[in-house]
Amino acid sequence: MSLSSAAVTAPNPVTVLRGVGDALASRLRALGVETTQDLLFLLPSRYEDRTHVVPLGELRPGQRAAVEGEVLLTEVVFRSRRQMLCRIGDGSGFLTLRFFYFTAQQQNALARGARIRCFGEARRGPQGLEIVHPEYRRVDPQSRAVFEDHLTPIYPLTEGVTQGRLRMVVGMALDQWGSSDIEDWLPPTVLADSRLPSLRDALHYVHRPPADAPVDLLLSGRHPAQRRLAFEELLAHQLSLKLLRRRIQSDPGWPLESNGDLKASLLAALPFRLTQGQQRALLEIERDLTLRKPMLRLVQGDVGCGKTLVAALAATQAVQTGRQVALMAPTELLADQHAQNFKRWFEPLNVTVALLTGRQTARARAASLQGIRAGHAAIVVGTHALFQESVEFSSLALVIVDEQHRFGVHQRLSLREKGAAAGHQPHQLIMTATPIPRTLAMTAYADLDVSVIDELPPGRTPVKTVVLVDSRRDEVVQRIRTACLQGRQAYWVCPLIDESEEMPYQAAEETAAALAAALPEVSVGLVHGRMPPRTKEATMRRFKEGKIQLLVATTVIEVGVDVPNATLMVIENAERMGLAQLHQLRGRVGRGHHASSCLLLYRTPLSPLARERLAVMRDTNDGFVIARRDLELRGPGELLGTRQTGLAQMRVADLLRDADLLPRVQVAAESVLRDWPLHVAPLIRRWVGHAEQYGRVG
Ligand code: ADP
Ligand code: MG
Repeated sequence: MSLSSAAVTAPNPVTVLRGVGDALASRLRALGVETTQDLLFLLPSRYEDRTHVVPLGELRPGQRAAVEGEVLLTEVVFRSRRQMLCRIGDGSGFLTLRFFYFTAQQQNALARGARIRCFGEARRGPQGLEIVHPEYRRVDPQSRAVFEDHLTPIYPLTEGVTQGRLRMVVGMALDQWGSSDIEDWLPPTVLADSRLPSLRDALHYVHRPPADAPVDLLLSGRHPAQRRLAFEELLAHQLSLKLLRRRIQSDPGWPLESNGDLKASLLAALPFRLTQGQQRALLEIERDLTLRKPMLRLVQGDVGCGKTLVAALAATQAVQTGRQVALMAPTELLADQHAQNFKRWFEPLNVTVALLTGRQTARARAASLQGIRAGHAAIVVGTHALFQESVEFSSLALVIVDEQHRFGVHQRLSLREKGAAAGHQPHQLIMTATPIPRTLAMTAYADLDVSVIDELPPGRTPVKTVVLVDSRRDEVVQRIRTACLQGRQAYWVCPLIDESEEMPYQAAEETAAALAAALPEVSVGLVHGRMPPRTKEATMRRFKEGKIQLLVATTVIEVGVDVPNATLMVIENAERMGLAQLHQLRGRVGRGHHASSCLLLYRTPLSPLARERLAVMRDTNDGFVIARRDLELRGPGELLGTRQTGLAQMRVADLLRDADLLPRVQVAAESVLRDWPLHVAPLIRRWVGHAEQYGRVG
């Protein structure tokens, strides 16, 4: 049964609330709010304490407070511009209210003797303390008591809707709870297990915390009411990914039974043996590939652990059964490199490898397309152009995606669509060098099984990292000379200097020229993203062949490039780069038998965060340690890449702060899927949206 229609009563549009007309409704829509339920999930970003009035005599500059007093004088004056000043007093002190925009009506209402209560930030003015444009209202001098009895929520992003208006409509939605059908989709068992408050209690609390609420706890997002909402949000994301997995696996895959001859021939031609880690991952992949169910597997392994080869060996299993393999790389450069590797491995075995990128000549492209359609091309390597354009496969059975963090879950989705043919889904193998902590991986990749390659090929000496102030460039140049004279090669990575489009390339060109002048005995090459692809490829090829000894590059070489003879990596302005990027760049060296170094050049002044990052790089080569530090320093959104799932844009939950919830969220997800299937779609719709694309339940 499809859940998109069942089990959900039609949600109430916000216009059911008294005083909410079309105009307000359309402004609310701009905030993503259509229903009364949406209103309740628009959560405050902070709170103000208006539960008691601060005597004017105790008010301090900088304090945000509620005050009350009697109007002593209201006058319109011209001081550089027209403005209204209103002086109030309460017996303990005085305060000026200053308005630059006001109506005659307001002026009349603030007549001498009126009693008003206002809220705002006090600051020093020409006549003592003042508040500019306070929120205010007249109060009846007779009934003095009515204060706010709870903290006042301040909502984010309220463009076109005042805070007061928003508070009012959210308040109405809360009060009309009974009639507005907002269901608690957390099953009672889950709720009891998680020891968290009910949805109703949680929402009431976050919109109207009691006057004595622990404000610091609320501001840090760790109050049980917020954790309840975070739990539900994490659960919804988890469910969406699990559903995605089910949907993919509801179509059969191609069971790939092969006798392993091709694999054996490929292995026999290699000058080395697989590491234990590679063997283990390969075994898991091979087992999946023989199943009738499409594989959904992620291979995680630090830079340089040899994921490409694992992918190639997996490909043999499809090729040998007469089916096709597509390998998708995040950049043209990497697609080229993979194509070269695969050609080197497969062409001696009479297996045709085709390349398909967006930048090929029309003729090369037509030839590739023809080969893919006819099935001559057993392995097709390309960029995402592979899946966006009208590429027809003859019998695609395995899709391999390299460096997964560059692609988001939705790209994976479209890729699956592309590969689905004749009611079958291709197997999927995803390779990532972003080593993330286990619970986080289980959350971010809940739709995938995970294999980990936890070792590097033997004989590698760890890269030695040195952090150097930029003024010591001369020493760095000297080290490049020494390395090149010893037959080694080096990279020099120039940073993105600012947002300007031209600058980085210009800087790289100037650096290359300066280095060529300083090192006449060294051949210097340059690659950057703006170069014609042919020039770039030619330069890369000459670097690989050792004809270029020093390669000056922008961060285009960040991922994947493999030149084992390169032993020196110089990174300029390293203080501006993130840990993940630095780790990727450093991973370009230390790939062969020679000892390698990475020199991180920085410019002063160093921010504390930059100092910390450089220290992490100097102290460890371990991708997992770096990822954990990165997570702590930057938060998970950055680590996973902005395009990664919806996890980076969650509303309440924070993967780092709420990491301790994740194991329970996983258990809850299993239980909801098994015992409460009707709750799945509403949960996804509430927190993730577009429940339909995640497919059916049950
Ligand atoms: P990554 O996992 O970062 O994609 P690569 O696949 O580029 O790593 O492999 C890095 C280098 O290690 C390549 O030169 C590759 O040929 C080599 N390599 C892969 N597996 C082994 C192995 N088992 N023993 C020795 N070298 C290996
Ligand atoms: Mg790689």
